[in-house]
Amino acid sequence: MSEVLLDAVIIGGGPAGMSAALALGRSRRSAVVIDEGRPRNRVTHEMHNFLSRDGIAPAEFRRIAREQISQYPAIKFVQGKTESVEGSDGDFRIRTVDGKVFRSKKLLFATGKRDLPLDISGLDEVYGKTAFVCPYCDGWELQDQQLVMIAKGEGAMHLSKVLIGWSANLTLCTNGPDELNAEQREELGRHGITVKDSPIHKIESEEGNVKQVLLENGESVACTGIFFAPKLAAATDLPQYLGCEVSESGSIVADRIGKTNIPGVFSAGDAASDMYQAIAAASMGALAGMGINAELLDEAWKSVR
Ligand SMILES: Cc1cc2nc3c(=O)[nH]c(=O)nc-3n(C[C@H](O)[C@H](O)[C@H](O)COP(=O)(O)OP(=O)(O)OC[C@H]3O[C@@H](n4cnc5c(N)ncnc54)[C@H](O)[C@@H]3O)c2cc1C
Repeated sequence: MSEVLLDAVIIGGGPAGMSAALALGRSRRSAVVIDEGRPRNRVTHEMHNFLSRDGIAPAEFRRIAREQISQYPAIKFVQGKTESVEGSDGDFRIRTVDGKVFRSKKLLFATGKRDLPLDISGLDEVYGKTAFVCPYCDGWELQDQQLVMIAKGEGAMHLSKVLIGWSANLTLCTNGPDELNAEQREELGRHGITVKDSPIHKIESEEGNVKQVLLENGESVACTGIFFAPKLAAATDLPQYLGCEVSESGSIVADRIGKTNIPGVFSAGDAASDMYQAIAAASMGALAGMGINAELLDEAWKSVR
């Protein structure tokens, strides 16, 4: 076991974890960032809506962040997956799959969320290229194009109301029977949105460019882009193992500075929110880093007798 008691271990090296690392590094704190390197946006070529970094490749964003954070010598990066966490405030023990063990006073989960398997044939091939989940991230590039939305029920109504800001050429594929009521269907029709209830047979594409959505009833819907409602889960159940409260959507319940219900355990980014924006994740990470430092300062202050 490592003898060094770090100020913090950060699990997850996406925008949230690295922002926290930057804040901690600048606060003269020691921390290790353990990252498996599987961020949710790894399927995309470009990240948008991040001030000063609009259009950057996600891997390049992480490279620059890591390079800048490396100026703070007490912050270290470790590639690997965390498999267990135990202990309590002041002395957590974190073990990686390949047997490395770290001890820290505070613990931050910045582990993001993960997509559950895409159960539509052909969707994997276009995901992140011409099929996306967030109009704010990728709507601009597909504006005014013929778009298919794959969503159901209230999620379909919500996506329709948002996506119409980017294109009026929208078809909703519910991929099988849906709970949309007559009033909602009428509302969609009023906005020129056609609803197709047939299950999807497959998505046809060429080199990541979607061409059409084939339905089981033999119909096809030509399109150049798809937006769909992904099914998400927490990337890890380690926070629950420690007793962290988790919401129905799988987000760790944390306050404004990332504090969870378990003393010394913080969370930030997609792991602790349903916002799913890199800049929001980075902001939460920065606040959590400052929150951890504030807690350590407070404890040190009170310990002086
Ligand atoms: C297709 C797609 C496109 C997107 N495009 C945009 C966009 O253009 N603009 C935008 O603002 N947002 C975009 N997003 C959302 C954005 O990717 C996320 O909001 C953001 O990455 C969240 O940052 P995070 O640090 O919370 O989590 P992540 O970036 O997901 O990072 C979490 C990290 O934790 C690691 N991890 C998880 N569990 C463990 C473990 N047990 N041990 C070690 N490491 C672990 C993961 O491997 C990962 O590297 C997009 C998302 C998707 C899916």
